[in-house]
Amino acid sequence: MNLEKIMNDLEKKNPGQVEYLQAVREVLESIEEVYNENPQFESANIIERLIEPDRIYTFKICWVDDSGKVRVNRAYRIQFNNAIGPYKGGLRFHPSVNLSILKFLGFEQIFKNSLTTLPMGGAKGGSDFDPKGKSNAEIMRFCQAFMLELWKVIGPETDVPAGDIGVGGREIGYLYGMYKKLAGENSGVLTGKGLNWGGSLIRPEATGFGAVYFAKEMLKTKGETVEGKTVAISGFGNVAWGAAIKATELGAKVVTISGPDGYIYDPAGISGDKIEYMLELRASNQDIVKPYSYEFPGTNFHQGKHPWEVKCDIALPCATQNELVKADAQNLIKNGVICVAEGANMPCTPEAVELFLEGKILFAPGKAVNAGGVATSGLEMSQNAMKLTWPIKEVDDRLHQIMQSIHQSCVKYGKGKDGYVNYVKGANVAGFLKVANSMLDQGVI
Ligand code: NDP
Repeated sequence: MNLEKIMNDLEKKNPGQVEYLQAVREVLESIEEVYNENPQFESANIIERLIEPDRIYTFKICWVDDSGKVRVNRAYRIQFNNAIGPYKGGLRFHPSVNLSILKFLGFEQIFKNSLTTLPMGGAKGGSDFDPKGKSNAEIMRFCQAFMLELWKVIGPETDVPAGDIGVGGREIGYLYGMYKKLAGENSGVLTGKGLNWGGSLIRPEATGFGAVYFAKEMLKTKGETVEGKTVAISGFGNVAWGAAIKATELGAKVVTISGPDGYIYDPAGISGDKIEYMLELRASNQDIVKPYSYEFPGTNFHQGKHPWEVKCDIALPCATQNELVKADAQNLIKNGVICVAEGANMPCTPEAVELFLEGKILFAPGKAVNAGGVATSGLEMSQNAMKLTWPIKEVDDRLHQIMQSIHQSCVKYGKGKDGYVNYVKGANVAGFLKVANSMLDQGVI
């Protein structure tokens, strides 16, 4: 593989798409060896076919705000690769959404979905719409306008979207309602649905639960457990709150959560009623991080700072991409961190990852750690297809097994001669081989 030539060509074709280029480079660097050992991949030009999305849809979304003003947003659906199953990946509503970010997320989703052991291809979508400060009626009108375009290109056997940043249960409800009306069918084309209308138990918390199950497996390789450990978490979204609940349940103490403007340090531990309190604020669209410091004495809000300056054993970045930089990694290592597991997608910059790998810290990438979310979406699709609802224990057991299986795959392909597991390499190689071999089986299409 001529990595630099591939990257140069890709950059020429996709100028300025920093996140997308970063994600492709990371994957190609770790699969280079296995790719070169299998000349059939080069003969079929697998890399060039894999890094180009199958198709990209761009839509204009017009909607009317509460004051009667007509607003315009841009939206996308990127169907990246369907070699192993229907396209599957979330929708993100955030002002930062652009083609580069969605292509990075869609590309990552191919390998993540491959790791889950379930038959799902990779996709991503979303809009630069900012749900913050919008009324419920505005959110509904935007979601309905979005689906007026999206429904034409999705379907239960072709492309099954889900939530992501800014798209939770409420948005999925409005999107699904409109899809159902337009398509005239009710087979569950979105995942993350409400429990009363085809959703799966524990889907909202599955990504965070899965992240902690994965960290538990990582610690096991060192004879360690989650119990008694101090955990730093960033964000307080769907991934972060699930992770905080599961880490606490397994006997750890979670001492931080964060938002874009700073973090909370709570030395007594963020659990139980405190999590309930934040979920209530979240449900009513209110700020969470600052009010927490007023509500619970003995806690501090650190304006403009990242939680990674706090002493902890386990770090779970669960907020957004590139939020944990080199200086943060230096702080964590200096303070004796044992395990860093990415709950978010690509939250650690390449420089930070390099430091963790050099320091032989247990470090695992989002595509392995947070795959429990899409895996449980896959389980939701199975339940919908069978017209059944599995009990909590069944979904949770399956999620736990899937996370263990992903961990085994990472160890299989990432363990070096010195016994250190490079989870970045392990996840990329395991995810890649399944997709590449499927592409070979299916011919040039
Ligand atoms: P949410 O929108 O529910 O939560 C994101 C959280 O991060 C919010 O608390 C937000 O605060 C905070 N945040 C945003 N930007 C920053 C920042 N720069 N610094 C610190 N905190 C910040 O999203 P999710 O929890 O769903 O997703 C989080 C990450 O996990 C994303 O990378 C997503 O792609 C990934 N992921 C999510 C899955 C899921 O099932 N939800 C599945 C797999 C991956 P505020 O609300 O104040 O902006």
